[in-house]
Amino acid sequence: MDSDKLVQLLIDLVGTDKVSTAGSVIEEHSIDKWLVGHPPDVVVFAESTADVVAVMEFASQQEVAVTTRGAGAGYVGGAVPVKGGIVISVARMNAIREINTDDGVAIVEPGVITGDLQEAVRKQGWFYPPDPASLKECSIGGNVATNAGGPHCLKYGVTRHYILGLEVVLADGSVARLGGRCHKDKTGFDLIGMFVGSEGLLGIVTEITCRIIPHPPARAMLSASFQSFADAAAAVQAVLGGGFLPAALEISDKFTLNAARDHVGSGLIPEGQSHLLVEIDGQAESVNSEIRAVGSLLNDLGCLTLETAENEAGCEAIWEIRRAFSYSLRATGLTKLNEDIVVPRGKLVELVAFCEQLQQQCGMPIACFGHAGDGNIHVNIMVDGIDDPVVRVRSDEALDCLFREVIRLGGRISGEHGIGIAKKRWFDGAIDSGALDLHQRLKVALDPKDILNPGKFV
Ligand SMILES: Cc1cc2nc3c(=O)[nH]c(=O)nc-3n(C[C@H](O)[C@H](O)[C@H](O)COP(=O)(O)OP(=O)(O)OC[C@H]3O[C@@H](n4cnc5c(N)ncnc54)[C@H](O)[C@@H]3O)c2cc1C
Repeated sequence: MDSDKLVQLLIDLVGTDKVSTAGSVIEEHSIDKWLVGHPPDVVVFAESTADVVAVMEFASQQEVAVTTRGAGAGYVGGAVPVKGGIVISVARMNAIREINTDDGVAIVEPGVITGDLQEAVRKQGWFYPPDPASLKECSIGGNVATNAGGPHCLKYGVTRHYILGLEVVLADGSVARLGGRCHKDKTGFDLIGMFVGSEGLLGIVTEITCRIIPHPPARAMLSASFQSFADAAAAVQAVLGGGFLPAALEISDKFTLNAARDHVGSGLIPEGQSHLLVEIDGQAESVNSEIRAVGSLLNDLGCLTLETAENEAGCEAIWEIRRAFSYSLRATGLTKLNEDIVVPRGKLVELVAFCEQLQQQCGMPIACFGHAGDGNIHVNIMVDGIDDPVVRVRSDEALDCLFREVIRLGGRISGEHGIGIAKKRWFDGAIDSGALDLHQRLKVALDPKDILNPGKFV
């Protein structure tokens, strides 16, 4: 269908103010936070489930591609409409419909910004734990579609563990309401699990019932530095093996620390070649005793420096060190290919040793930091001149080597960000052939005309 006709029919369906082809709107909806974009023909700003249903019924009849967009803060090109067609933005569906602490639920529209939900729940003394670093800009719908995680997922689990109910509009415009406000539910298949992480390929999420839990009243933190990455990784195992389950356990390597020293000043970043951040939360008395016990454990393990924070300001100052890492790597002026790979926790040292060897081989620096407790390390290949095709081939070769090694170690090519288009090339080789076939069969069953987010990994 020609573009003008498509736009007119959509205006007839949902109204002029919800449909745009303005240059700036098309540009904004062509790309997320990854490198490559593609323009849609038109953007529809849905304001209700009824709008989404109308667009999908129409798109299904006309066989027009539809790509859903939350906040566009994805790291893998998931919201990029590679086949053009319609981008359906749920950004205007941003109401928090209900927070009910008696039931331990929050019911939200998909465009709600994750940080806004956390704050609203926190005001009532409750907690929505999944905490992607992008939480001030990403949406809950996007988090559901990517099964987002973050530092606190070591203790609290990822987005999937906080989704009790979903309303989903399917490719043909039909609506399915899954789960509800009960914290346990074994009434049929785990269909919620099928949609969480489906990256907009199986349906469009239009309402989410989230599980919320009481907010721990106290927290304290440790910032420890070590002579080597291996020492810090050994400390991770010792903390967990010692019977402690920190709220967060974050590790960084020497390239990351040096970049942070250059960017924020060496006074703020402790000496040493590796850094460990430990957060303990819970009731004040147990936090006090646990933080001391973990601190003395780290001392016994020979950490070079150890700082303890027992109040909010001190904890935030330690988190600032962690938050500085990403910005410091960007400040190097190199392009950061951030690969959120995950390996079994016992393989962390092997992984980082491999990355040190890989950087010699490919001639590009590699920075590793992230969620040590989960084995989910962000491996950042730092590329100089990414627009140069020769450099691009070399960086792709480095990624080939990295992903091959991750798979050899029993790991996965994405722990958080998803596959999108960024990792499409590696997807088939990264999962079992039976699992790949199941992905394809599900896609065909739910979206036989391949109109939902086409051109991606299934
Ligand atoms: C600085 C930075 C830090 C980050 N840190 C983390 C991190 O710590 N942990 C982490 O997990 N991720 C992280 N990310 C990646 C990203 O923020 C997450 O993937 C996030 O969940 C994307 O949400 P979004 O609303 O921006 O989704 P979008 O980018 O808009 O979309 C992402 C995917 O979800 C689909 N989608 C969006 N909304 C819906 C919906 N309502 N129904 C169906 N499909 C939908 C899209 O089609 C697309 O495939 C980071 C990104 C940045 C830029």
